[in-house]
Amino acid sequence: MKVDLLTVEEATQAVLERACALPPIRLPLSMARECLLAEDVSADGDSPPFDKALMDGFALRFADLRNGVGTLRIVEELYAGSLPSRSLMGGDASLIMTGAPIPEGADTVVMIERTRRDGDRVLVEDPSVRPGGNILRRGREMRAGDVIVRRGETLTPTRLGMLASAGRPSPLVVPAPRVAIVPTGDELVESNQVPGPGQIRNSNAVVLEALVAGAGAIPLLSPIARDDPEILREALGEGLASDVLLITGGVSAGQRDLVPATLMGLGVERVFHKVRLKPGKPLFFGVGPRRGEKPGTLVFGLPGNPVSGVVGFLLFVRPALDLLAGRAGRPLGLPLYPLTRAFVHAGEKPTYHPARRVEWTGRGPGTVGLEPLASAGSADLLTASRADGFALFPAGDRAYAPGDVVGFLDLG
Ligand code: AMP
Ligand code: MG
Repeated sequence: MKVDLLTVEEATQAVLERACALPPIRLPLSMARECLLAEDVSADGDSPPFDKALMDGFALRFADLRNGVGTLRIVEELYAGSLPSRSLMGGDASLIMTGAPIPEGADTVVMIERTRRDGDRVLVEDPSVRPGGNILRRGREMRAGDVIVRRGETLTPTRLGMLASAGRPSPLVVPAPRVAIVPTGDELVESNQVPGPGQIRNSNAVVLEALVAGAGAIPLLSPIARDDPEILREALGEGLASDVLLITGGVSAGQRDLVPATLMGLGVERVFHKVRLKPGKPLFFGVGPRRGEKPGTLVFGLPGNPVSGVVGFLLFVRPALDLLAGRAGRPLGLPLYPLTRAFVHAGEKPTYHPARRVEWTGRGPGTVGLEPLASAGSADLLTASRADGFALFPAGDRAYAPGDVVGFLDLG
């Protein structure tokens, strides 16, 4: 009996149903970059905590100037981090540096460029000065108790800075998913080795490592696992400690394609194996046993052909990583662009074909078009490396003309 394969849409749905935000943990700020905050964080004090100078200059009483001009007595020098010991009386001024607290009695700072010092006196000449000038009042930025970064917000560099200034060095966040990557295959050697007869270098691992990091997750790369049941069992068993396990190779129907059976022997529940698409049909997806508080590992067995692995990652793994990290995820539909040249598609599977984004001046919306690249198929990483992504040609034979619109699966 011929079983209908899942469509890409059905397979995506099956993956996304099983991917939910990881349980929040406390992380140091240096490890929380781009994570989602899982709690509201409030200011623990006013900021600034005191009235402070915004300029290097002289703190003084506005009433002592006439049209911005006056000669005053310098009573103290104040630096950022120092505390005023003197209140200003009539005719007094304190030299003050940016960030230093304003002394009592002062209501204005005149910038140093508008003053001339002469011993313990200072001549001030600034017709543009206004009362309160160059002072940031206490609590002007935020008040104690104000919520400064909200639950659900992404920790950008400036928000990390806000948490630091509020004294929250380890906020509660949804952590970046940890992704184990296990390359498999008897024919593989590492990239610093010279392949012997019948051998090739392991390129998939580094491609996946970069894709994982680019998706904001943490790649954990394993050494090459041989096509041997015992070795695979150990390597894949270790991978099941991570939030996601990516395996490349060993998922097709060959004698040495031991990955699906090994995974099931380790308690991984198979959700699907094979999807109706090209390249990358023999993709395996399953869920490992629960890990205590944490949900079971999402396990993706990607076909070994380099381009198949990339397409499988973009279609199924990247959206899952978004959800695990608590992000909303990208819209599922692909953006549409016109083709810049003719292309003939034949076959009963939807095909993701390497394409470059180029300028488009012909008919149709926008100024960006897609140029399909001449490719030798799923083993042709070189052509994929020159592409910006993959143009989607739906199932069925069709001759496309320039200007015909197709979907685009972006590598970026
Ligand atoms: P498999 O899915 O194991 O049948 O492998 C399919 C094809 O992908 C074979 O030609 C493999 O040599 C190749 N391949 C498998 N793993 C890798 C890898 N890590 N790097 C580059 N090519 C690979
Ligand atoms: Mg193999």
